[in-house]
Amino acid sequence: MGNMNFVQKSNLFSYTATRCLRNEYFHNDCKICIDLCPKGAFHLVRNKLTLFENECVGCAGCIGSCPTEAFEIESFDPNGFAAAYQHVNEPVLSCKISTPCLGVFDVEHYAVMALRANKSVQCDVSHCEGCVLNENGILGGSIRAKIEESNRLLEQVGVEHRIEVIDVKEEEADRRALFRKGFDKIKESIVTESQAHIAMTTAHHKLPDMKMPLKRILLKNSLKERIGAMVETTFEGPSSLFFNKQIDFQSCTNCGDCTQFCPTDALFPTSDKQGIYFAQGKCIGCGICEDICKPKAISKKEEFDFVSIAFERAEQLVHYDMVTCHECRCPFPYKGGEPICDRCESYTKQYSNMFTMAKDL
Ligand code: SF4
Ligand code: SF4
Ligand code: SF4
Repeated sequence: MGNMNFVQKSNLFSYTATRCLRNEYFHNDCKICIDLCPKGAFHLVRNKLTLFENECVGCAGCIGSCPTEAFEIESFDPNGFAAAYQHVNEPVLSCKISTPCLGVFDVEHYAVMALRANKSVQCDVSHCEGCVLNENGILGGSIRAKIEESNRLLEQVGVEHRIEVIDVKEEEADRRALFRKGFDKIKESIVTESQAHIAMTTAHHKLPDMKMPLKRILLKNSLKERIGAMVETTFEGPSSLFFNKQIDFQSCTNCGDCTQFCPTDALFPTSDKQGIYFAQGKCIGCGICEDICKPKAISKKEEFDFVSIAFERAEQLVHYDMVTCHECRCPFPYKGGEPICDRCESYTKQYSNMFTMAKDL
């Protein structure tokens, strides 16, 4: 049985517990990896995600899907692969040739490959059917859903290239030799790009465990290069990749809980601590801020702006002037009307009957 260690390893696969959303934040109930693992190797032990090492087969199927990159596999780095993909001529991704299970990639990786390479990326998913890892079609379905989502993004940003699903089973055998050659080139280019990659990885790990995932940094940087060619940079409607927030001025108490618990610092306080900024490009949509906000002042907003996402621009969602409460003389965020803080106001309401009674005695 697995123990609740900070880093758990199995078959060259490692899980860093301090990067898991639900382990770090009581309010989070993410279970993407639990639902995806074909071997049922993840368990909740006292509500903490725990890897049972003896049950994990190191298939890498769950790796791409973790929003905070809590998993790593020694033999393959999906971020390095996506960043270097542009240098290879052969566009096919296949678990039988160049990669582990395609579940190792997330939407961001697919989009980064197509954006940087400026060409379509072909995914051989012909082996998913009948694969022992694809129990009830869960892993295969997740791979296809990620491909579809990345294609939606490519369409939104006006790129013609797509992530194409292909079947290479029927292709000539010598194409496989070509793929291998292509993959060797990728490996070489990963080595060439490694310095940039190490710098990014170090920057990521220098911060506390839970910060911006590298896959999102790669996507943001790839989008930056597209912005100039985009006709429309804003879009409306739901997105499973980007997230936007709004805060209701009247109900927010400026308690700061959302900024304190946001794992990626997408929400952060203004320098005077009297307001809150939000950066669309940093939000991973974990929902912690909405769960933790007692007055339910923060909510989703389905309007996105690629310029803000790509350049990590932050928007001030609320700002309060601090004034002194006329009752308790403590400073509080003023929202208009009588200069009385929420605490004194609710106290007065709660005990108004008592005060009236006392006056009549
Ligand atoms: S997918 Fe990542 S954040 Fe979600 S439960 Fe698994 S390890 Fe935690
Ligand atoms: S939005 Fe909610 S959690 Fe954030 S500061 Fe306002 S009241 Fe507090
Ligand atoms: S802003 Fe909210 S949903 Fe986005 S990463 Fe921060 S806590 Fe999660």
